[in-house]
Amino acid sequence: MTFEEIKQQEHEYLMQTYARFDVALTRGKGATAVDINGKRYIDFTSGIGVNVLGYCDVGFASAISSQTRTITHTSNLYYSPVQVELAKKLCNATVFDKVFLCNSGAEANECAIKLARKYSFDKYGKGRHKIVSLLQSFHGRTLTTLSMTGQESLHDFFFPFTEGFSYSEANMESIEKAVDSETCAVAIELIQGEGGVIPLNENFVKSLAKFCKEKDILLIVDEVQTGVGRTGKLFCYEHYGLKPDILTAAKGLGGGLPIGACLCSAELGSVFSAGSHGSTFGGNPIACAGASYVLDQVNSYKFLSEVSRKGALIQRLLSDMSDVVSIRGKGLMIGIEIKGDARKIAEKCAENGLLILTAKTLLRMLPPLNITDDEIEAGLSILNKVLREYA
Ligand SMILES: *Cc1c(COP(=O)(O)O)cnc(C)c1O
Repeated sequence: MTFEEIKQQEHEYLMQTYARFDVALTRGKGATAVDINGKRYIDFTSGIGVNVLGYCDVGFASAISSQTRTITHTSNLYYSPVQVELAKKLCNATVFDKVFLCNSGAEANECAIKLARKYSFDKYGKGRHKIVSLLQSFHGRTLTTLSMTGQESLHDFFFPFTEGFSYSEANMESIEKAVDSETCAVAIELIQGEGGVIPLNENFVKSLAKFCKEKDILLIVDEVQTGVGRTGKLFCYEHYGLKPDILTAAKGLGGGLPIGACLCSAELGSVFSAGSHGSTFGGNPIACAGASYVLDQVNSYKFLSEVSRKGALIQRLLSDMSDVVSIRGKGLMIGIEIKGDARKIAEKCAENGLLILTAKTLLRMLPPLNITDDEIEAGLSILNKVLREYA
């Protein structure tokens, strides 16, 4: 098929839910992707923060392919050694004691919401079920995670939503107004990703954690985008000296395969009992084998300090570009405020061999965590050229 045929048939056979770039990727290696015409791109997107080890990492490919030759799926009616191995690694690497495995970020957040509501129901009875999240947040596309998403523009058309959600600004005054005696949880992203790469203020996060603890309100930290090494720590909560009650992860965890995880303390870990929650595909052996391999690679001091070093390198190179207005983010999660239209710039970058994301009016970079300095420099020089021409 030619690119034009693919594009035409995509319009014919797929629901038109995505504003796609004029690129059809067919293969890749490291941070370089190749399209159907053989054109090469430096990829600063890693499939929206998913391919943390880049395309076709040899160790990752061999971990998942050897799993396909032993067992690809069993139901959760039976014990699974690869699930246990992954859950144990997640607990040992974090402050958490128990894990629920699912298939996506939205599902991990659905689990967090159900867990918070059941914890509160078991302890306080009916009616204490409300969840406060932040304006500009993003928590997923299911009806309930959309309900938790604090962006009015995503709420058109789909009424009625799940009850019991309200939104707060990222300050204590607004939180205190939004929380009442029926609130069971507050949900935050430590760096809002889709909302425009907005890091939360450290003092706000500390005050919020203290406030929640005093009221036995659970703090849910959505690390679907910030987790698994993205910010230079295994999880972003480590930067904030925080112990969330519930943490959700997905995107980078699977290294390219769909997986999500909801992590919690030992106390919360006994809230669900058999039948409370479940997923047919949750904890799929291939996805677990991949995630286990990813964690082994990412969770080392050396790997994570390289993420921080490369993030600093990118910020330094960006700050020398005259069309860059400001830069925010941590590690390899970077938002770039520019003068021109972000979508247009991203399209021009693609034409010139660089894949880059947008977030609201910003350009956004979520490159593979093992991107090389050469790939960083090559990508940024394309960006600089495009900005000079079109910003
Ligand atoms: C992407 C994202 C989600 C949703 O994840 P899906 O896997 O697309 O369901 C939830 N929360 C945050 C912070 C995200 O960035």
